[in-house]
Amino acid sequence: MAVLTLQNPATGQTTGTLEEATPEQVQQTMLRARSAFASWSKTTLAERLDYLVRLRHYLALHGEELALKISQDTGKVSLEAFMTEIFVTLDTIRFYEKNAHRMLSPQKVPTNLVLWPKKSYIHYKPMGVVAVISPWNYPFQLAVIPVLSALVAGNTVILKPSEVTPATGMLIEELFRAVPLPDGVVSVLHGGREVGQALVSERPDKIFFTGAVATGKKIMAAAAEHLIPVELELGGKDPMIVFEDAHLDRAANAAVWGAFTNSGQVCMSVERLYVHESIYADFLERVKQKASALRQGYPDQAEIGSMTSPQQIGIVRSHVEEALAKGAAVVLGGSIPATPDSMFLPPTILTNVTADMKIMQEETFGPVLPIMTFATEDEAVRLANSSPYGLNASVWSQDKTRARRVAEQLESGNVCINDVIISYANPHLPFGGVKQSGIGRYRGPSGLQAFTHSVSIIHDPGTRKREVNWYPYTEDQRRLFIGLTELLYARKPTWKQGTLGAIWREWKRLF
Ligand code: NAD
Repeated sequence: MAVLTLQNPATGQTTGTLEEATPEQVQQTMLRARSAFASWSKTTLAERLDYLVRLRHYLALHGEELALKISQDTGKVSLEAFMTEIFVTLDTIRFYEKNAHRMLSPQKVPTNLVLWPKKSYIHYKPMGVVAVISPWNYPFQLAVIPVLSALVAGNTVILKPSEVTPATGMLIEELFRAVPLPDGVVSVLHGGREVGQALVSERPDKIFFTGAVATGKKIMAAAAEHLIPVELELGGKDPMIVFEDAHLDRAANAAVWGAFTNSGQVCMSVERLYVHESIYADFLERVKQKASALRQGYPDQAEIGSMTSPQQIGIVRSHVEEALAKGAAVVLGGSIPATPDSMFLPPTILTNVTADMKIMQEETFGPVLPIMTFATEDEAVRLANSSPYGLNASVWSQDKTRARRVAEQLESGNVCINDVIISYANPHLPFGGVKQSGIGRYRGPSGLQAFTHSVSIIHDPGTRKREVNWYPYTEDQRRLFIGLTELLYARKPTWKQGTLGAIWREWKRLF
C-alpha cells in the first residue's frame, strides 16, 4: 500500500505517514456517496445551511490552531494561512447563508407571447456525487470552498486533496467529522495521481478540478469518455500594468505583495509586471526597496515562508537561469536558496527580460517578479494578452475611464483595478480563467448554480385539447404561420388575405 509522508517543508520535520486509498476503497467510497445522495439531495436548503453554520462556528473558534497546522504542512507564514485559508472560507460560508436561497430557488423567466398561456422557470437540481480534486498551494480553502458549494447545492462530495500537503487533507477530514455530517455526504480519499485517476474512473457526476494545466487536460480527456461535466481551475501568468498616473507607492506595495505572497505559489500571483517607461526608474527603486525589507521565516514574524514543494523550486530556478542566460539582470535575490536543501527561496526581481523568455511565458509559481516597460496603452494590452494563460490581471491608473477600457480589453477571467488578486475574495463575483487558465466559473450565483443541473420547466395549464403546432396539419395552419411570421418578423409586415379567417378557425380547433 502506498504511503504519504507528513513533513513540514519549512523545518524538514517529519511527523508521520498516511496510507493512500486503494482502488477498492475508492469504489466503496463512491458507493457510500451515491447512497448518501439519495437522502442528502432531499434535505432542504435550510437544513444544509445549518451544517454550514455549525462549521462556521467551529472554524471561527479553532481558526488559529487550524492555520498553524496548515502552516506546518505548507511552510507558509501562519498569518497568511489564517487570512487566505480560514478567513476566506468563513466569508464564503456567510455568503452562502445569506444568498444561497436566492441563487438556488426556482427562477421564473418570461415566456414568449406565442407560447401563451404557458409559464416557464428554471429549477436548480443537484447533480449527484461531485469529485473535488485539489492542489497544494492553498490546500485548505481550495478544497473546502468547492466542497461546501457542492454540498449547499444538494450534492454529496468526494474530495481528493493534494498528496503534497496530506496533513491538510487529514485536517479537512477531521473538520467534516466534527460538524458532523451524515455518513457518506463528504468523504476524503488520500493519495496522489493514481487515487485521482481511480476517482475519475468511478464516474462522478461532476468533477471540480484545481491544479496544473497538463493535469486538467488529462482529467478532461478521461471525463470525456463518460461525458462527465468538468470544471477546471488551472494556472496563470498574471500581468500587472502600471500607468504613469497610478498611485506609485500603492502600486509598488501591491506588486511586492502580489508577487511574493505565499512565496509566489499563487495561481493569481503577479508574474509579469509592465510599467510605463516614464515612471520605470522610480517605480523599480520603490519595488526594490520594499522587497528588500521583507523578512523570510517561519511560522511568524515574517512575510515570506518557505516553498511547499521541492519540485517547484526546480521549476522556479530553471526559469530564472534561462532568463539570466538570455540577458536578464538580477535586481534582487536570484532564486538561489541559502543552502542546497533549503526550502526558502529569496524574493527575486529581474529586469531586461523579454517576451520570449520562460519567465514571461510559463507559470513560474515562485517568488520572482520580472519587470518590463511599455510606451503606449495599446502596447500594454498587447503584451499582457501575449500569454497562453488568462486567469487574473491588474490595471493601475487614477483615470477610471482608461482603467476600465484597458481592463475590458484584457484576455482574462478576472481583472482588478488598482489592486491585485483580490477579485477572488468577493464571493459575489464569479471566478475562473480563460484560455489555458481553465473552463467554468465557481463563486457568485453562476458559480453555485454550476453545481446543479439547470432544469428548464415549461408549464401549460393543460386545459386545451391541442396546440396550434400539433397534428393534424391543415391549410389554415400553414396560412396562420406564414401570416404570423410576416407580422412578427418582416421589415414591413403586410397582412395576407385570409390570415384572419385561418387564425379564427385554428383557434377554435384548440378547444
Ligand atoms: P497538479 O495538477 O499537479 O495536482 C492537482 C491535483 O490533481 C492533486 O490532488 C493531484 O494528486 C491530482 N492529480 C494529478 N494527476 C491526476 C490525474 N491524472 N487524474 C486525477 N487527479 C490527478 O497541481 P498542483 O501542483 O497541486 O497545483 C499547482 C497548480 O494549480 C498550478 O498550476 C496553479 O496555478 C494551479 N492552481 C490554480 C488555481 C485556480 O483557481 N485557477 C488555484 C490554485 C492553483
